[in-house]
Amino acid sequence: MQNLGTSLRVLLRGFLRRCPNCGDPGPYRWWWKMRLRCRQCGLHFEREEGYWTGAMAINLIVTELVFAAIMVATVIITWPDVPMLPLLLVGLAVNAVVAVTFYPIARTIWIAIDLLLHPLEDDEVRETAELRRIRDQTTANV
Ligand SMILES: [Zn+2]
Repeated sequence: MQNLGTSLRVLLRGFLRRCPNCGDPGPYRWWWKMRLRCRQCGLHFEREEGYWTGAMAINLIVTELVFAAIMVATVIITWPDVPMLPLLLVGLAVNAVVAVTFYPIARTIWIAIDLLLHPLEDDEVRETAELRRIRDQTTANV
């Protein structure tokens, strides 16, 4: 188990869409297109088949919390004349927009949580070290 400071740093990196392992800002080529590996530390982001289920759960929870907050706030503010149709349309839009835009962040948060719960295995550490060595040799020869 890692200490609290290290755990918070790993989680913060995930919330900032950075590689939770090393902090590199480039896990994504663009907002939704994730690289297979970290370009800095070589971490393979999808550590096993079905890996992104946790990210989907995080994304669903955040999306529904935002949706619920908007619904409750609107009902409280407008009670007793709740505008049902506009509220329904806003709710649909919020569910679509938040789910789509937050998903990349949910993925790096999930990687961070997974790294804290399941630290890199020996073969993953060897693999990332080998990739770093190859990258360093390649850049030194250029
Ligand atoms: Zn990294």
